Amino acid sequence: MRLNSIQPEFVEFVPKVLEPGILYISQKYKTASHLCACGCGEKVVTPLSPADWRLEIDGETVSLHPSIGNWNYACQSHYWIRRNRISWSYAMTKQQIARVQARDQADKEHYIAAVNKQKDELAAINTTMEQKPFLIRLWQKLIRFFVQ
Ligand SMILES: [Zn+2]
Repeated sequence: MRLNSIQPEFVEFVPKVLEPGILYISQKYKTASHLCACGCGEKVVTPLSPADWRLEIDGETVSLHPSIGNWNYACQSHYWIRRNRISWSYAMTKQQIARVQARDQADKEHYIAAVNKQKDELAAINTTMEQKPFLIRLWQKLIRFFVQ
């Protein structure tokens, strides 16, 4: 039976046996788990990070972005969790599924690339610093101190 709503439950550890209709959220371990909302009994684990799923807490309700696409399971369910409501996607063709998966993957790569670029830029600044005479380095440190 398809569910139309899910209740968040904040836990430290996600229990081994999950109850249907509950989204277990461990902020400590940055992960959320629930049983597939179609009722098939499959466990859906969604890591919480800017590159995976983002959890939005609004009062008593939670939302997960992006959507949950259980294409590795027989049921092929696809739904959104928005403010504790489950909105079901229409059944998608293989081609449409591939497109959504590609988009999610591209989002993830885009994020990782942005983080790496930031790291590279910082590394470049640090390398340049090492090559400069002491006084200039000191000056740059001061500037950075005030700019931060
Ligand atoms: Zn399912």
